[in-house]
Amino acid sequence: MLSADFANMERDLQLISSADAVHVDVMDNHFVPNLTFGVQMVSRIQDTSPIPLDVHLMIDNPERWAPDYARTGADCVTFHVEATDNPKRVIDAIHSAGAKAGISVKPGTPIEPYLALVESVEQVLIMTVEPGFGGQAFMPEVLDKVTAVRAQAEHLGKELWIQVDGGVSVDTIGQAAAAGANTFVAGSSVYAAGMSPQEAISALRVAAE
Ligand code: ZN
Repeated sequence: MLSADFANMERDLQLISSADAVHVDVMDNHFVPNLTFGVQMVSRIQDTSPIPLDVHLMIDNPERWAPDYARTGADCVTFHVEATDNPKRVIDAIHSAGAKAGISVKPGTPIEPYLALVESVEQVLIMTVEPGFGGQAFMPEVLDKVTAVRAQAEHLGKELWIQVDGGVSVDTIGQAAAAGANTFVAGSSVYAAGMSPQEAISALRVAAE
């Protein structure tokens, strides 16, 4: 929704009803230099959306805020491991509030120290741009992390959403899928693709497959 028209959210939610989920980027002006959606706004998006919400918290102090976002009815709430000293406690708090839990790493953060958390989460989000703004160029050099997470999930025999976020387009989604990603966040390549959002989503699915 970072690439949607914030004055026409309901319309823009209906335009992407053929997607699997709505990805909502929550930014607090501290963890990243941008400010987006609060809990009340996410709650209204949840009420209005025809498909489940996938909430990505790019915020400090997820211990404090993640449960509130989970209680909006979001299907999954993902937070950044860089923002907390105790990611397992945040995961447990999200689960207790009734949502699936995800962890995320920025491009400069190695994944190895966090692979032990894979067994506790439903999603791992590998950022393929620096978090904070839409419309940035995809960073293929981070795809080794996707492959490492995929290997860990297979080692555990675990179904896992391995998500890439940032710069995903018909030109880059195939590389991410080949590396082991199975969940793809697209913003400007859906809402500003030079075709309808529904056609853009179909084109992305074909390119990923
Ligand atoms: Zn995101």
